[in-house]
This record gives sequence, C-alpha cells and structure tokens, in this order.
Amino acid sequence: MAYLQLQGIEKFFGEHRAIKGIDLSIEQGEFVVFVGPSGCGKSTLLRLIAGLERIDGGKLLLDGRDITHLPSSQRDLAMVFQSYALYPHMSVYENMSFALKLAGVDPKVIREKVERAAKILNLTTYLDRTPKALSGGQRQRVAIGRAIVRAPKVFLFDEPLSNLDAALRGQTRVEIAKLHRDLGATTIYVTHDQVEAMTLADRIVVLRDGVIEQVGTPLELYDKPANQFVAQFIGSPQMNVIEGKHVPTVPGVPAGGFLGLRPEDVTLQPAAQATGGLPGTVELVESLGAETLIYVTTDSGAQLVSRQATRSSLRNGDRVGIVVEAANAHRFDAQGRAAR
Ligand code: ATP
Repeated sequence: MAYLQLQGIEKFFGEHRAIKGIDLSIEQGEFVVFVGPSGCGKSTLLRLIAGLERIDGGKLLLDGRDITHLPSSQRDLAMVFQSYALYPHMSVYENMSFALKLAGVDPKVIREKVERAAKILNLTTYLDRTPKALSGGQRQRVAIGRAIVRAPKVFLFDEPLSNLDAALRGQTRVEIAKLHRDLGATTIYVTHDQVEAMTLADRIVVLRDGVIEQVGTPLELYDKPANQFVAQFIGSPQMNVIEGKHVPTVPGVPAGGFLGLRPEDVTLQPAAQATGGLPGTVELVESLGAETLIYVTTDSGAQLVSRQATRSSLRNGDRVGIVVEAANAHRFDAQGRAAR
C-alpha cells in the first residue's frame, strides 16, 4: 500500500464542489508537485491533506493509518507557506525550535536538531536575528528549517517561492531540490510555475476544476500528454495546437481534430531557401540570448511559435517556409483527447 493514499477525496465550499473525488497514491520519499491554473483546487487539496480544511468525502491514509478526520497537529505533517508565517518577535533559533519546545523535547536535543538544520540551510550565522532582519530568501529558509527540525512524515509546500524575485526563486528552487536529494523526505509541493514543477517533481499531478487531468513524470507529461489541456499547460512557450486542416502533409490527425507541435519542433527557413514547408510570414522575433522565439502566421491563417537554439537573422514581415517535425507531432481529436 502506498505511503500516502487519497481515496475519493471531496471538498465543498457551500454548493461549490471544489475537489471532485480525487484518487492518488504517493510513495514514501516521492516529490509530488500539484500544478494547474488558478482556482483548480491545488491549494485546497494540499490544505485537506494538511488538515487545515475538513474533508467532506473519501478517505486519507498515511502510513497505513486513517487520518481523514485527525486534527492537523496530530497528522505528523509540516507545511511551508508562501507567506513564511514566522513569528516576528522570535529569533530564527526560537522560530525553528518552537514546535519541538512545545512538544517537550529535551533542550539539548532541540539545539542539536536546530543547529543541524541551520547548517544544511546556511542559516548558522543568522540564528540570533529576528525575521525582519532577514531577506525574503533567508526567511523562506527559516520556514523550511522549522519544518525540517520536526522530521515530519510528509512535507507540504504551498507556493513557497512565489514571493521571491526571479533570481532568488531559481536559487531556492535548487536548494529545495538538493534538500530533497539529501533528506529523501516525502514531499507535496503546490505551484503554478511549471518550471518548478518540471525541475523538482518525481511526479506531477495536473489538476483542472477539482479533478486530476493526468499524473506522470515530468517527461511523460511533456512527451505523452493525455489531452490538449495538459499538452498546453506543461512546456513554455506552450505547445502550438492548430487545426489539422492547416497541415495537410502530416498524417494521422483525426477528422475535425488538432495537431500539437512543440515550439522546438517547428523550424523556419527563409522563403528564398525554403524547400517545401508551409508558406507563412514572421510576426514577431523575441531574442532571449541563448534562444530565439519566432512567431509566425501561415498563409492559411494558423499561428505558431518556433523556438530555435541559435540567433536568427529573420525580421518581422519576412516570408518563410515553416517546416514541422511530423515524427514529434501530437494528435488530438475534436474533444482535445490525445489520439494514439
Ligand atoms: P490559486 O493558484 O489561484 O491559488 P488554486 O488552484 O490553489 O488556485 P484553490 O485556492 O484551491 O485553487 O481554490 C479552488 C476553488 O475553491 C476555487 O474556485 C476557490 O474560489 C474555491 N475556494 C477556495 N477556498 C475557499 C473558501 N475558503 N471558501 C469558498 N471557496 C473557496
């Protein structure tokens, strides 16, 4: 039996069914990321697991024990919030040791645990400071440290990096990945940032409107999305999805269906050198340094983005031949389901 098991989990807010019969098994040591658009229910699902919201239907089992209606404090889970939720008047040391002190742990043991966590998180020199004398990234590390010292059965993270600037978000993401590698703790992490999802997750759970659309490893979702929604949610820039009729050269698209092309599978040739491909026009060129995104419109009216790993001499208005990598193309039926 899986370490953490969700069986038919339901949540209503008044009449609104926010979580609709979620089944999910999480193995010990796994790093699972919940992603999905705003309002899909990912934070609610995490809060149900944490015991911060009441579960209205179904069962939640942790390590063989039914914890569906157990109070949060008895679930042996630790949650790290976007807002850090540190005690402002307490030092870093006091913040990190608070839960252990409350649990009556021997002060000597507390000191060892806090010092070990502080070392892992590079917080040793900040233990005497209060949170207001720390940067956002340092505060977030304290919040993580406070979870680590409790050695919970499961770590729960609710968008922990969204208050950090881009550079710090990247660094802290790498720290969380290393931490998981070193501690091997079972982790559930909520984010709407699909780079975080792709880089941190052993498995990603894609949610929409309170149901699971697909569960899989990052590359499974990238290479074999179950439907158009997942295909366009995972990957940046998002997958091009166009009506099959625009690309008559690619076989196997169901009648009335769609063709999905990752931006890296769309190549552009200047019209003069084009040897086939769909005729089209460059609408916009975005140079990102290491790569270039080129937005084009086919003469038949379909819009596509091409990603190339080199700089480009193409300019707005240039005529091009659009060559698609048919072997890597995705096919969807008229309802958006993957056609295999
Ligand atoms: P976001 O990325 O914007 O945080 P989310 O996927 O985490 O979104 P939830 O916060 O879980 O979404 O919300 C799921 C649905 O439940 C939404 O429709 C939301 O409006 C509703 N909801 C969440 N909390 C409450 C509440 N306390 N009372 C009423 N409705 C709620």
